[in-house]
Amino acid sequence: MKKRSLRDLPAQALEGRRALVREDLNVPLKDGKVTDDSRLRAAVPTLQYLREHGARVIVLSHLGRPKGAPDPKYSLQQIVRDLERVLGATVEFIPDPAQGVAATRRLPRGGVALVENTRFVPGEEENDPKLAATFAALGDFYVNDAFGSAHRAHASTEAIAHLLKPAVAGFLMEKELKYLGDALEHPKRPFVAVLGGAKISGKIDVIDALLPKCDEVLIGGAMACTFFAALGFEVGTSLVERDKVPLAKELLRRSGPKLILPRGAVIAPGLERVAQAREVSADQVPAGWAVYDIDSVTRADFHARLLKAKTIVWNGPMGVFETPPFDAGTRAVAEALVAAGQKGAVTIVGGGDSAAAVAGLEDKFSHVSTGGGASLEFLEGKVLPGVAALEDA
Ligand code: ADP
Ligand code: MG
Repeated sequence: MKKRSLRDLPAQALEGRRALVREDLNVPLKDGKVTDDSRLRAAVPTLQYLREHGARVIVLSHLGRPKGAPDPKYSLQQIVRDLERVLGATVEFIPDPAQGVAATRRLPRGGVALVENTRFVPGEEENDPKLAATFAALGDFYVNDAFGSAHRAHASTEAIAHLLKPAVAGFLMEKELKYLGDALEHPKRPFVAVLGGAKISGKIDVIDALLPKCDEVLIGGAMACTFFAALGFEVGTSLVERDKVPLAKELLRRSGPKLILPRGAVIAPGLERVAQAREVSADQVPAGWAVYDIDSVTRADFHARLLKAKTIVWNGPMGVFETPPFDAGTRAVAEALVAAGQKGAVTIVGGGDSAAAVAGLEDKFSHVSTGGGASLEFLEGKVLPGVAALEDA
């Protein structure tokens, strides 16, 4: 179901009004400093649009996992300077949402305030309507731009949308829903998914949900090893989830020719013994060795399949990309997506580590999803509570 967007609100609904915006400003911090500001930059289009339309902008976000009580380590005060820098505007800090109403009313048109971590207050993660009412008092309407938090029904993402209307989607949320939604509902074909990463357990439901929708599902990463084990291959010391082997067998049986496994692998006796890295076919992994990447035969095979695709969804690295040379398979898939995109394919990258693997190349893909868990649940076909609670278009 299409959701009402900030774009749909008339100018007079914004001018002078207090926009309460839920963003996902859950940035990585080291010693109190923001080490990656991409989530701040991703919030800018929505915040800037509101400012330009004369709204008073009040921002809500969580940061980290405090236990429902204040914890200086997770204070949003630490990101105020960086938010000011990316916005080119001063940001007032509201330390306590329960005491914040006066400050929101004093904000000038186009002014911005940031409320302290939503998870400092008990009730946020319980989706408590009383806390939602406290938040709701800080605004005249609600904008949810936090796609990355939309899979959790929390007071600032779900309960609040029932209390504060209009409740609309921000531009980042809109873009995520458009790309992921269109890919799943009306994909240009062939539609090919590439799935990798560490664990099959976190992604088995995604494979399951995508198989009937896709023309092909390419498997890489450690999760390929669980399939190798299901085929009866020796997998050495590779990362295999033994308890998922029966499930992998079942998937292989059901999927037919759509499920494409790696033909071979780059192996080594251990991650610190890269000098001994070599390529073998998938059924030739010696005992005591582990699979750390897809081999060059597989890279060429995946490349050819991806170049024929018109829609590609990629989630999860093909190997231990943090440790070269085991990044080669992941880089090859990234390059294949870029090449397919140049030929007109829609290319979507999702997942925290996958997004990190293509950092700096974001503009070469149609869309890089900012929401790891949320994009996975979306691909599984689940309803995201933070999205469902928004008004329909
Ligand atoms: P994403 O965050 O993109 O969803 P995951 O979190 O599922 O991806 O997986 C990423 C991790 O998978 C990376 O840390 C990478 O090192 C690991 N990984 C990929 N392939 C292998 C492999 N063959 N053996 C061990 N770890 C792997
Ligand atoms: Mg990850």
